[in-house]
Amino acid sequence: PAPPEVRVQATPMMEQYIEIKANNPGSLLFYRMGDFYELFFDDALEASRALGIVLTKRGQHLGQDIPMCGVPIHAADDYLQKLIGLGFRVAVCEQTEDPAEARKRGSKSVVKRDVVRLVTPGTITEEKLLVASESNYLMAMARLRGSAEPAFALAWIDISTGIFRLSETTETRLLADILRIEPRELILADTLFHDPDMRPVLDVIGRVAVPQPAILFDSATAENRLARYYGVQTLDGFGQFSRAELAAASAAVGYVEKTQLAERPPLDRPERESAASSLFIDPATRANLELVKTLSGSRDGSLLRALDRTVTGGGGRLLAERLMSPLTDPERIRTRLDSIATILAQPSLSADLRAALKHVPDMPRALSRLSLGRGGPRDLGAVLIGIRTGADIARLVDQPDLPTELETARTALAALPPELSERLAGMLADDLPLLKRDGGFLRNGCHAELDEMRALRDQSRRVIAALQLRYAEETGIRSLKIKYNNVLGYFIEVTAGNAGPMTDGEGAKARFIHRQTMANAMRFTTTELADLETKIANAADRALGIELAAFDGMVEAVIAAADEIKAAALALAVLDVSAGLAVLAEEQDYRRPTVDTSKMFAIEGGRHPVVEQALRRQASAAFVANTCDLSPLSPEGDGALWLLTGPNMGGKSTFLRQNALIAIMAQMGSYVPAASAHIGVVDRLFSRVGASDDLARGRSTFMVEMVETAAILNQATDRSLVILDEIGRGTATFDGLSIAWAAVEHLHEANRCRGLFATHFHELTVLSEKLKRLSNVTMRVKEWDGDVIFLHEVGPGSADRSYGIQVARLAGLPAAVVARAKDVLAKLEDADRKNPASQLIDDLPLFQVAIRREEVARAKPSAVEDALKRLNPDDMTPREAMDALYALKKQL
Ligand code: ADP
Repeated sequence: PAPPEVRVQATPMMEQYIEIKANNPGSLLFYRMGDFYELFFDDALEASRALGIVLTKRGQHLGQDIPMCGVPIHAADDYLQKLIGLGFRVAVCEQTEDPAEARKRGSKSVVKRDVVRLVTPGTITEEKLLVASESNYLMAMARLRGSAEPAFALAWIDISTGIFRLSETTETRLLADILRIEPRELILADTLFHDPDMRPVLDVIGRVAVPQPAILFDSATAENRLARYYGVQTLDGFGQFSRAELAAASAAVGYVEKTQLAERPPLDRPERESAASSLFIDPATRANLELVKTLSGSRDGSLLRALDRTVTGGGGRLLAERLMSPLTDPERIRTRLDSIATILAQPSLSADLRAALKHVPDMPRALSRLSLGRGGPRDLGAVLIGIRTGADIARLVDQPDLPTELETARTALAALPPELSERLAGMLADDLPLLKRDGGFLRNGCHAELDEMRALRDQSRRVIAALQLRYAEETGIRSLKIKYNNVLGYFIEVTAGNAGPMTDGEGAKARFIHRQTMANAMRFTTTELADLETKIANAADRALGIELAAFDGMVEAVIAAADEIKAAALALAVLDVSAGLAVLAEEQDYRRPTVDTSKMFAIEGGRHPVVEQALRRQASAAFVANTCDLSPLSPEGDGALWLLTGPNMGGKSTFLRQNALIAIMAQMGSYVPAASAHIGVVDRLFSRVGASDDLARGRSTFMVEMVETAAILNQATDRSLVILDEIGRGTATFDGLSIAWAAVEHLHEANRCRGLFATHFHELTVLSEKLKRLSNVTMRVKEWDGDVIFLHEVGPGSADRSYGIQVARLAGLPAAVVARAKDVLAKLEDADRKNPASQLIDDLPLFQVAIRREEVARAKPSAVEDALKRLNPDDMTPREAMDALYALKKQL
């Protein structure tokens, strides 16, 4: 017979848990119970594994044990940090009523609980959870169908600083634009999330992408939601936005509302970024050039680390942002370079400025916490110090003829309201506690009643000490003590053997009221003591009430000045970045680049910023500077290509990368590691260097190489800079050579971009005979006793040999293998001499670029076409038609 059905009723608490959990799918639920957040069921399994905490169980549900684990409240931030870092999202569920209230409703009733906040990677504000020098972006992506190419828009918000930006993009640029901003969390409609077209993008983005209900991205209600958030009637005053942009912006704001529940962080007005205003760097290039992190994922060894001399969190974030999105407008680039030049010219200003900046706290983040109701006294302290230092710095940079950017910064700092800092300075104590909960952050003397309450509290302690002495004398018990605990409050304690004088006689009994008998002590109180206690408690309550009210008042005043504070914070970041780049230029001997609208690319004595610093740290041989000139032959012409040959280890990759990095640095508005640099603005930068490891996605190295090369050949324009390192290496020699050959021709004839092409195929050097903007250069080496010595010098010409065997020998290949390889090479070279690949150049006609249809349309019509156009078949007899046909044929 079948076993009787096990039906176990869920406890009322479990019922509540299950309901709340169901309302918050996709998040771990932190369920508040006393001094712990508890996790149950699968959440408990996942969290205990992720956090390495003990998994236990609590009761049963439907006949099964309920797995459980918990984290103590006081350590919750640390655990949250770890979970967020691992990509989890957490719903924090608090008790929303006093347990006493619940007990009043009946013995079985459960304390009311509700989720008060969703903690997600893109919406955190806590100092502990944030990295000071990194932005923390939440991004929303929206797609609008209808136009020929689906229109995408991205909106990104850093709620810890209020930054809010928008940009339109296309399917081709989408991934590059997302990676440029590096969001911690990317939300998109679930329909889009599951669209197969999005797979390639989402595969790269991974866990950062989170599907949300499509309704959040509804463009019809978008404008309303945004207007509501900013408390305005219409968005007209914000500028013009496309429908896709509105959808993305409103989804981002909607998500902020959803995760912050009751609170509204102060967001800047959304600011549009146009795609053309920043240098396009495709994802592979961004990764390969190791701009903000190395290929292995570490921040050390990246370009950002090498350039960063900022001393504030805000400055660090701005520098990273500028590096991720270099400019394309020479005027704006010049403005930034002017700031550096001004600071460089005044060493004492630079030193004073940086000394002052070191004291600047992270004002925007403090401001954001204060407006979210998560701020503490130290956040107010940060605003105070920020305003004071800001005012000092405004005076420091107050001088005539400041360049635009510095003058704007100075004005913003000078506009900081002095009344606010006076008010805060008058009220905040010198040492501030982290939490407002226990008070103690208001300065003595700032509030008469508070002083009185504090005096009473302190005085009472003295009164109690006096009372203890008096009772001891009166009773003759010298060991009598007045003590305090949370249950009894103040009480008199004597040892059991001494209790006689307190219990003997009516008088004593009336006076010393018995409270508790312990194993070897007895506890009493007196009306005097109880009165005193009430006084103390009242004074403390009142004092705390005064402090909390003052706190709210200060927060309100700070929020009222939010715009000025944010503008000042940006100004401080700009000054920090400019001063940092000035110090770097001085320290590393960088020079001011000339950036204009030409197609020049003339770098004299260029160095690799990261390798150079590494060599210096290791105190090894100095970096060898190299010149690179890809400038057009005539001012109106297109830029040039350099074909670089040379042995392995000769320095080819280093040279290629350094020129790309110098272009990026120049366009972000930094001085560059070169004796001089003149760069015509680059619109897109592409690179194909090294074998990026994409094997995990099931593509072979060669496939990746070809996909990346295809992207370059399809997208590079005559304003682009292209860097190709050994393409065609991943396949058989002839295949590889053929592909490399065709790619060089295409870059020269069709893309007409500036470019550097490093190759092992010496056969390619013959191309310079036919391609007039192509030059051959090589990494020079010296032979010494059969060994190679790398000079790391780029010079004209081509390498006659690869020195692969010498390099192999240096690497420790067994002598027998080296000797045998030499024999094989000699045979192969002999065969090649009889039938050299250089013959190809004579046998192959030059690569023809397919003429596009619109070019045909633009071309002058031929005589035959003109004649054909004049014919009108409806007016012709068959005979005339026949004659016309013959006449046409004759014209060919
Ligand atoms: P290749 O791409 O030709 O194989 P790399 O660019 O990887 O060569 O350079 C090989 C090594 O030579 C690097 O480790 C680098 O430290 C060093 N090197 C490259 N260029 C220079 C230079 N200009 N000055 C000094 N050392 C260099």
